[in-house]
Amino acid sequence: MFTCDLDFNCFMGILRFQFVMNIVRYFPIAGGVFFVIWIWKKEWFQPFRIQLSFPKNDKLIYEIKQSFTTLIVFTLVAMGNIVLAKLKIIPSKVYFDFDKFSIGYAILSFGLLTIWHETWFYWMHRLVHTKKLYHIIHSVHHRSVNPSPLAAYNFHFLEAFLEAIYLPLFIMFIPLNFNVLIFHTFYAMILNIYFHTGYEFYPRSWVSNPILKWINPTTHHNLHHSKFHGNYSLYFNFWDRIMKTNFPNYESYYEEVTSRRDKALEDRKAKRNEKKSSNEILVGG
Ligand SMILES: [Zn+2]
Ligand SMILES: [Zn+2]
Repeated sequence: MFTCDLDFNCFMGILRFQFVMNIVRYFPIAGGVFFVIWIWKKEWFQPFRIQLSFPKNDKLIYEIKQSFTTLIVFTLVAMGNIVLAKLKIIPSKVYFDFDKFSIGYAILSFGLLTIWHETWFYWMHRLVHTKKLYHIIHSVHHRSVNPSPLAAYNFHFLEAFLEAIYLPLFIMFIPLNFNVLIFHTFYAMILNIYFHTGYEFYPRSWVSNPILKWINPTTHHNLHHSKFHGNYSLYFNFWDRIMKTNFPNYESYYEEVTSRRDKALEDRKAKRNEKKSSNEILVGG
């Protein structure tokens, strides 16, 4: 499909693929996570909640509506990239034959793309936090002070464009296998949804561990939503640490959230055991 000559059928085939890869893929996943954690098993997940309150329905509707705008922009950016590359207006180093480079290269290119995405995201995020751009563009994302999984793609259309173009820029210069590219977009989307769940599942020792502290837990981005100007990074805590932009209370807040969670889980376990033993006494008696 991606190697076809650019005629109507070819264009429509790619458009269909992009539509599925963006709109069809996102809503069942983000919606599914939302349904399981926020509705169906809400009580069970309650101890893991970062901010104890829940946003009002109008905020959730806004997140869904705005995510739709973002997915249209993502589709347009991908289509524009493919069409311009086919017309040889811009270069594209995407390759389809897995044997063209080694498997080692495929892994390396995935690593490079992750580092590039992290770097692009951090600096673009700092840029949209400057006064003017914040009010015009980024305040849309920050309307979710207490985000839900559906806030993952809650962007102004201009920010959606900025969020998307790191990928066309990368493949203009670095050879990338098509399957690695698709895997990357999937992984980026899943993590983005995860960072907006509003629940913390990582162990309490995470941010004090000398290795794990370099990887962001959900609380990191959740704190960004509740406190705005700090904690800008995406997957890793690298840029925030070297630029000293983590919130000063990031680590103590993580400790507070996870110790509250662990205590609630212990209490729940103790209650369950108590109930079990009293049932046993009744049956035995
Ligand atoms: Zn922000
Ligand atoms: Zn966010």
